[in-house]
Formats: sequence, structure tokens, C-alpha cells
Amino acid sequence: VSDINHQSIQTPTIIQHYPLCSKILQQNLSLNSHLKYAGRQQLGLFLKGIGLNVDEALKFWSIQFTKKISMEKFNKDYKYNIRHNYGLEGARINYKPWDCATILSKPKPGKGEFHGCPYRDLSVDNLITNLNELGIEDQHQINEIIDDVGKRDYTIACTRVFEITHAKQLNQQQQKVAEGMHINHPNLYFDRSRQLER
Ligand code: SF4
Repeated sequence: VSDINHQSIQTPTIIQHYPLCSKILQQNLSLNSHLKYAGRQQLGLFLKGIGLNVDEALKFWSIQFTKKISMEKFNKDYKYNIRHNYGLEGARINYKPWDCATILSKPKPGKGEFHGCPYRDLSVDNLITNLNELGIEDQHQINEIIDDVGKRDYTIACTRVFEITHAKQLNQQQQKVAEGMHINHPNLYFDRSRQLER
């Protein structure tokens, strides 16, 4: 039985496994009780990818959004789109979660938007604050990440962050950090992080 439901995905137990892009979307959704379209798509499809089913997704989004708007408005303006992502409306395509290349191919987030890849889209200062919050304080490690960003190697920066924040588990399992470990999908980040926990 999946432990992914509208409640568990609001707990640190699950959120700790999110890559920074998904974490930032979740934080801003909680903060604003709203996300604009691209953010809803990026986070919504990521959540689908971690195993959130459509009923739980509707509960999750409606609980967040109805802190600010009525249930009627939620049903009218947002429900269709969530069902659409699960292939239950319109052309009934079963949409896949976005990989990093797709995320990086979309327009950058404008003001009040939080989709995209933080390694590309945050200012260096803001990125460092976020890295500190992930427990990355070592200046040498921070410099390496900022170097990757400067070279536009965003997924390499993200993979590096994964390796730093999972160093203990990776060591215990004696997993070699090989090229095959390159993270190119937010859901791969999540799955790998959860696997290492087991
Ligand atoms: Fe998300 Fe990919 Fe950017 Fe990592 S590299 S933060 S998984 S978009």
C-alpha cells in the first residue's frame, strides 16, 4: 500500500526527499495557498509521479487553495486541470511528470511564479540560502555548486547536492558515485532518496 497521500506529502518525512525545485513549489504553495499555472503543472505532475492518485491530489490542492478561495471557485477553476493531468478529461492523455530538460525548456518563472529549476532561476544569494537550509554550509562545497551553475550545468549542481545531502547513506551502502547516478528528473531524485533511506 502506498504511503503517499494528501496528508503525508505535507510532512517532512516525505518532503525531505524532494529535489529543490519541488521543495520550493511546495513551500510557496503552503505560504500563498496558491500556485500559478506552470507551478501547478510542475508540482502536480511530480506528485503524480511519486504516487499521489487523483482523489488524493484533488484533496491536497483543494485543502491548500480553499484557505483563500471557496470550494465552488476551486471546483470551477482548478478541478478540471488536475483531472486533466491524470488523463480523465479532454484528450485523456496520461501526462508524465516533467524531467529536468522539460523544466529547463519552459519559460523562466516571472514575478510570483515558482516553477523552473532553482539552480538556474534563483539569484546566487538566494540559492546559497537554500543550500544552507539543506545543511550545506561548507564553503568549498558551495563554491563547487556555484561553479556548476556558472557553467549552466544545472543537473550536475543538483546531483552534487544530492550526493552531499546523502553522503552518509551513500557511504554506508558503498555506492560509487558514477555517471549513472546523474539526476535528470525530479522523480529520480525522490525515488533514489527514498531508496537510500531503506
Ligand atoms: Fe529540479 Fe532537475 Fe533542477 Fe534538480 S536539476 S532542481 S530535479 S529541475
